[in-house]
Formats: sequence, C-alpha cells, structure tokens
Amino acid sequence: MFLRKRKMVFLSITLFLVTAVAGITQEQLRERGEVIKNVPTTHKVVALTIDDGPHSKTTPAVLAALKEKDVKVTLFLLASNVEQHPELVQQAVQAGHEIGTHTYSHTLLTRLSKQAVADELTKAEEIISKLAPKPILFRPPGGAFNQAVLAAAHERGYTTVTWSVDPEDWKCPPVSNVVQHVVSHVTPGSIVLLHDGQYPLPTPEALKQIIDQLRAQGYTFVTVSELLQYYEVRD
Ligand SMILES: [Zn+2]
Repeated sequence: MFLRKRKMVFLSITLFLVTAVAGITQEQLRERGEVIKNVPTTHKVVALTIDDGPHSKTTPAVLAALKEKDVKVTLFLLASNVEQHPELVQQAVQAGHEIGTHTYSHTLLTRLSKQAVADELTKAEEIISKLAPKPILFRPPGGAFNQAVLAAAHERGYTTVTWSVDPEDWKCPPVSNVVQHVVSHVTPGSIVLLHDGQYPLPTPEALKQIIDQLRAQGYTFVTVSELLQYYEVRD
C-alpha cells in the first residue's frame, strides 16, 4: 500500500513536470518569431489543414467527410472566396472547425511591400471576422514569406503556420496517392496541407481514408491551436 502510494506520488510529480514544459502560448511563439511548420511532441497528434476555400462543391464534400469521421480541422480561408460563400464559413464554424486566414487574394506576399501585405491581412480579417472569431493563425499563400511578411503578420497578432506534410492534392492525383503520401509521412506533431479551393479534387475521399488509417496507428486529430498545446519546449 505504502509503495503504491509512493508510486502514485512519483507519477503525479512526473505528470506535473511533463505538463509544465508542454504547450506554448501564441504570444510566446510570436515573441520567438517562430513559423510553425510542425510541433515538437512525443504525442501521436496531427493537425489537418485545408487551404483556399470555401468552394461551392468541394467544401461541402470536405465538411461532410469530416462530420462523418468526427474530426475538427483548421481551414485557412481565402477571403475573396469567403465573400462568395459566407454560408459555408458559417457551417464550418458551427461544426467546430478552426478558421485561419490565407489572405484576401492569394497573391505571393514576398512580392509585396510590407504595407501591401498588411492591407491583404486587414481586408481578409474584416471579411472573415463577420462570420467567424477573428483569426489568429495565418498561412501565407504558397508558404512564401520573408521578414516583411512575418513582421506584418506579427503586428496584427498572427502566428504564421506552414506545414510539414504536402501530398500536392491540388494537382489532382488519384485518391490513393494522396492517402499514401500523408499516411507514410505523418509523425507526431505533423501539420498536413490539403486544399478545397477547386473542383474536382481527390481531397474529400482522401480525407476519410487518411483519418481511418492514421487512427488505426493510434493518432488523434486536433486543430492547429490545439496542436500548439502539445508543443514540448526543449531548451
Ligand atoms: Zn493557397
């Protein structure tokens, strides 16, 4: 009994230490000027992210696949598309998905002045914020950034997020190629890049199989904000 008690105390102390170093606030990340590509963690968690939507055909299919599998993702919305399909954004928010910004016009931001980057972010934010909580996550189009882009994002309170797994679904490969690429490249803390800004795409069907296969390996699916809670600081 005494030994068991000691073991319990030891366990709680270990758990306390693990929790003490795990997780990082967005504020800390911004201060570190860190761009999140993936999250260092020993937990089998993965974040699926979907860019460029909403699209009238692909987004409803994506949302249906995620509902069927009971998974929440982070959608990096293109605000010019949000203007076309606000009802799909409302649907995504109601379903519990996280909304990030992917700018207004999908211009390559590294070609713009810092002021022009700021304008892209501000315009997108005004449109998205009417339908969803103000986004705090930002994904630059094409994953392209420089110091001016990062500074403009930082000043507006954004954490910049790229990805670590890219099956190039926008090139419309067969479903099985997308699934195979994702399942064979995901590791704990991965951020997977997928798209819903065009039609047709293999993505809705691929999502279901990706979720089934990674779940069978013991993975759980979280939004990018949730993934940051698993960040294990090692310094
Ligand atoms: Zn994009």
